Amino acid sequence: MPQLYKQQSIKIYNSLSGQKEAFTPINDGYVGMYVCGPTVYSNVHLGNVRTFMSFDTIFRYLKHLGYKVRYVRNITDAGHLENDADEGEDRIAKKARLEQIEPMEVVQRYTVDFHNILNKFNFLPPSIEPTATGHIIEQIELIKTIIDNGFAYEVNGSVYFDVLKFNKTNNYGKLSKRNVEDLIHNTRELDGQSDKKNPQDFALWKKAEPQHIMRWPSPWSDGFPGWHLECTAMSTKYLGEHFDIHGGGMDLKFPHHECEIAQAEACNHQSPVNYWMHANMLIMNGKKMAKSTGNFILPEEIFTGDNPHITQAYSAGVARFFMLQAHYRSVLDFTNNGLLASEKGFNRLMDAIADLDNLKTNETSSVNITDWKQKCYDAMNDDFNTPILIANLFEAVKVINQIKDNKATISKTDLDLLKTTINTFTFDVLGLVSGSANEAGEGKLSGAVELLIQLRQEARANKDFALSDKIRDELAAVGIQLNDGKDGTTFSTN
Ligand SMILES: [Zn+2]
Repeated sequence: MPQLYKQQSIKIYNSLSGQKEAFTPINDGYVGMYVCGPTVYSNVHLGNVRTFMSFDTIFRYLKHLGYKVRYVRNITDAGHLENDADEGEDRIAKKARLEQIEPMEVVQRYTVDFHNILNKFNFLPPSIEPTATGHIIEQIELIKTIIDNGFAYEVNGSVYFDVLKFNKTNNYGKLSKRNVEDLIHNTRELDGQSDKKNPQDFALWKKAEPQHIMRWPSPWSDGFPGWHLECTAMSTKYLGEHFDIHGGGMDLKFPHHECEIAQAEACNHQSPVNYWMHANMLIMNGKKMAKSTGNFILPEEIFTGDNPHITQAYSAGVARFFMLQAHYRSVLDFTNNGLLASEKGFNRLMDAIADLDNLKTNETSSVNITDWKQKCYDAMNDDFNTPILIANLFEAVKVINQIKDNKATISKTDLDLLKTTINTFTFDVLGLVSGSANEAGEGKLSGAVELLIQLRQEARANKDFALSDKIRDELAAVGIQLNDGKDGTTFSTN
């Protein structure tokens, strides 16, 4: 990969400073990026898909620039309680109780669902996808260090982070721009239910009630780690005590990311992250998306059209294109009209890219492709501005149509540059796919099975029953049933 990052300088909006800052990685040519992953207790929310898509696109662009990126996105499979304030039931354990299955069955089901959905949206897999339950030992070690450093205390088998004490030497609230005095003022007293010294303290380890299934031994009690701790444990383990980018949804800024900073500073005496990035919300038809109000759509339903809020199914390319037409720091309003408009735009872009192979070239160009190419980079360099990039891609669509209509000319060199650049940004950086990913996959499968059916018929015609049976059995072994009928052989999958 050429080291394009040496020519392109990125600016990132850092939530910590509230400003766009020039991006300089800690180690030249390498980027460490951590993004808080899903809590796998229900189908992934479209808002989360949007957040992860923003970071998928950022990951793609950094890779395109030639950075060696280690992208860590975790799976939260324990410790995330119903409300974010250390009270209530573990979300996964609650689902397991309601469905009468093992917590790890809940985890497996929704992890598989999460991966399926992300594949449909053409996500790249992260470099590492660690789980909270796979890092209990690391979390216990962190707690020991925080206690040794004087920033945590044990009560009745649970361990809490002492926010007030931490705030005397460090600044608690610097990311979310809150100060501890206001927090004290605004936190409700927990009617003596809690062991905490102060209501703004947060749990590092919780002693498990007897009925709590998800529990591990620790020096303090059989229990489970606090939700904020896992991200500190896993980011430190895979990216070090000090790394480049930490991302997540806006809603995680407080308390989750604030607590991550406090934990890391309490352990390592240094700020853990150089650039904090937060993706904005997704709303639907101008309102908050919520199952309870019916203003809701499952990501899957976009591809089937099976939801009252949309009039048709949309392909993965269109859905992704639609989402990336909003900048990651802007609120995205999900509407059927928006999707319809995106479908038109997406098709225009795909048509123009297909036309590139039939364009006539001239001695000279009347269009400036080199400048246009840099504009595409400038858009992404400016805090990953995908809507501006897309506007630039449409500038190219205009140019392509002008050349087609003999209203502009292009040289062979410029045409090659235009082709490479538009393909790179459309497919590699934005991650768009032409057509529907599913349709393409199913088409290939049925073509391959049809071929095997034909070979089997030939084998039978030659009385090679060993081969014909082998084809049938081997297909059955991978879940494809051949059905011999009077009109020939068909197949079904299970
Ligand atoms: Zn996290």
